Amino acid sequence: MADLHSQMNLYSMTRMALTLGPGLGFLMYLHSSTLNARPDILDRENRIHDTPFHQLMDHYDFIVVGGGSAGSVLANRLSENPFWNILLLEAGPDEISLTDMPLLFPVLQRSPLDWQYQTEAGETYCKAMKEGRCNWPRAKVLGGCSTINAMLYIRGNRRDYDRWEELGNPGWGYDDVLPYFKKSEDMRIEEYKEDKYHGTGGPLTVEYFRYHSAMAPSFLESAKELGYSILDVNGEYQTGFTLSHGTLRDGLRCSTAKAFLRPCCNRENLHVSLLTTVEKVIIDPESYQATGVILKKLGAKKTIYADREVILSAGSLASPQLLMLSGVGPKDHLEDFGVDVIVDSPGVGMNLQDHVAMGGQVYLFEMPDGYEGDENYCFNLPKVFAPDTVDKFTQKKDGPMYWLPVCEVMGFVSTKYANQSDDWPDIQYFMAPYSDGSDGGLFGRRAVNLADDVYSAVYEPNIYKETFSILTLVMRPYSRGRLMLKNNKIDSKILIYPNYYGDPRDLKIMVEGAKMANKLAYTKAMKKYNVRINPYKLPGCEEHETFSDDYWACQAQHYTMTIYHPTGTAKMGPDSDPMAVVDPRLKVRGVKNLRVVDCSVLPYITTGNTNAPTIMVAEKAADMIKEDWGVLHKYYDSSEEHEDNASGEKSEENHDQLDGYEEVTGKPNADLIEGSVKAKEEVLREKPTTLMKKTPKRQKDMDYW
Ligand SMILES: Cc1cc2nc3c(=O)[nH]c(=O)nc-3n(C[C@H](O)[C@H](O)[C@H](O)COP(=O)(O)OP(=O)(O)OC[C@H]3O[C@@H](n4cnc5c(N)ncnc54)[C@H](O)[C@@H]3O)c2cc1C
Repeated sequence: MADLHSQMNLYSMTRMALTLGPGLGFLMYLHSSTLNARPDILDRENRIHDTPFHQLMDHYDFIVVGGGSAGSVLANRLSENPFWNILLLEAGPDEISLTDMPLLFPVLQRSPLDWQYQTEAGETYCKAMKEGRCNWPRAKVLGGCSTINAMLYIRGNRRDYDRWEELGNPGWGYDDVLPYFKKSEDMRIEEYKEDKYHGTGGPLTVEYFRYHSAMAPSFLESAKELGYSILDVNGEYQTGFTLSHGTLRDGLRCSTAKAFLRPCCNRENLHVSLLTTVEKVIIDPESYQATGVILKKLGAKKTIYADREVILSAGSLASPQLLMLSGVGPKDHLEDFGVDVIVDSPGVGMNLQDHVAMGGQVYLFEMPDGYEGDENYCFNLPKVFAPDTVDKFTQKKDGPMYWLPVCEVMGFVSTKYANQSDDWPDIQYFMAPYSDGSDGGLFGRRAVNLADDVYSAVYEPNIYKETFSILTLVMRPYSRGRLMLKNNKIDSKILIYPNYYGDPRDLKIMVEGAKMANKLAYTKAMKKYNVRINPYKLPGCEEHETFSDDYWACQAQHYTMTIYHPTGTAKMGPDSDPMAVVDPRLKVRGVKNLRVVDCSVLPYITTGNTNAPTIMVAEKAADMIKEDWGVLHKYYDSSEEHEDNASGEKSEENHDQLDGYEEVTGKPNADLIEGSVKAKEEVLREKPTTLMKKTPKRQKDMDYW
């Protein structure tokens, strides 16, 4: 038997090595064809300009660290005030053409646009992965994870936000945050445009994916047959199923860089510095005031000062790391690494939450006899990575490049562990006409770090066959993980202890979820496909009877997956909570002029994907910052809004959805200018700066794509 396994392993590795070339060849052909034929993707006119090192000023009003989902929103909203100078610092480059294409979602992981984190090994999770470590992709590119994510647009549940508020975070209840979701949104799905839960005219466009498999209607039928509603999971109720909603524009990715930064690429008061890593926030140990940052760009170092605030938007792994390296964190832990402690903040890096998922729940099926339709029934790499796909994409703007096979249909359900009468589901499903065998192990296997022998034993026998899978995700895990410094250098990745299934309740919920997922595979709607589960069991789980609770539990602990939603590592909370790192206005407790604005601040993870909630947090934070500096509702740059809409049309901002939001024109009136100047003078009295120097005109940067 052992011999058979090692032969299979050798075969599998050899086959992958041989197919890698054609796979990469396809990507190169796609890339060059796109450069030639799709100027809309290159969008040269609207790309942001990188501010070269020598043009970076010594002082800005605000320094935003990290140009990801949150940082891009902040850079846009804060620079609406023409009297503030904003510096946005991003460690990665600009987006590339391949990031626009939904189908390439798995390809972006482990690429240079990914920081390539890995979890530390543990007893209860990731057992089927190499060295027991799961990969945790995090983006290193403008737009952050919104540029490499799966584009799924999910806001979470009313109860999530009401719970945040109940914890002592005023202004974060659902009724308070809904207007901020709507403010960002440009809902383009026809049936929801007029819906009171959606906004139109915001920078972030939301659409259905343009391409669907022939299997998608059956997935929805199957859910209906089991009694679930087909509904807008971002509307009044969440429990039910839908074709996935995506942050998409004309079928292509709409990252926050595209949505929020490109429209303000010509603002004189916004500098964006790419390939720039912030090493530390400077905090004065006597005044406890954040005064600036130390950064490195292409090998050169510089200190830049913030006359108003430094804002950390480096994401849930890097923001806590930067806090710790800057002297804010658990005292003993910082001292272990020789970091001078400025504020003992025990919650930094704690409270790590993620949506843990179970991978590998794969089903084989057969296409209906004589099927000759155009749509694929499931993803099959040799069939899809073909010249015809490139032609359709470049010439007709359609075809499989507009497809997200990893989650075509999404659902939210409640297991027996959730309150059945409540609409607060504890499980999310991704129904996918895709499995580990679909791409021959080239991308998906690599992305999750699946061990070679596991792949060859379980998925190699099914490569390129008709398969689909259902991914089960636990929505509100009880387990809490932790981040720890490896040393006191920003270049060393932070250590991740996800503690998946550390609380056994999470495993029980997962097992129930997997069993319910299994029912979705065996409905009448699916019967015509002769569906059967992959007969090859994960090594280590063979002794368990298929479909038994023990089997699913074993699979969950072996084929553990992140759904890429680490949150909560610098959580917000009231003063009474010693583990709260930021207050409800997202100011770092114990430090002046420093905020964290990204998905680190979520006290509890939301019920669903975390990009839209992060964008909401940043929208709300921008208003709080303006309010704290006395300029809320005063400046609004209508002249640059939405000019990048591919249709070329300008759309109207939905100000009216925000309580008390004043409609203002692009031209600030004299009183307002005076107000801002006064505020600025106050700052200057305290600290002489070169603040009023005019922002230098920027040069056109190098081409990143
Ligand atoms: C592979 C993947 C798939 C996902 N799929 C979905 C999905 O389909 N739907 C969804 O809603 N959510 C999804 N998410 C999660 C979602 O995208 C994130 O929760 C969200 O983007 C987090 O935003 P953020 O602003 O907190 O951090 P990020 O978007 O990660 O931004 C942080 C930025 O800071 C930069 N940075 C870090 N350190 C430094 C430093 N020292 N100096 C300068 N810059 C720095 C990074 O390069 C990055 O650009 C996915 C995430 C990933 C990784």
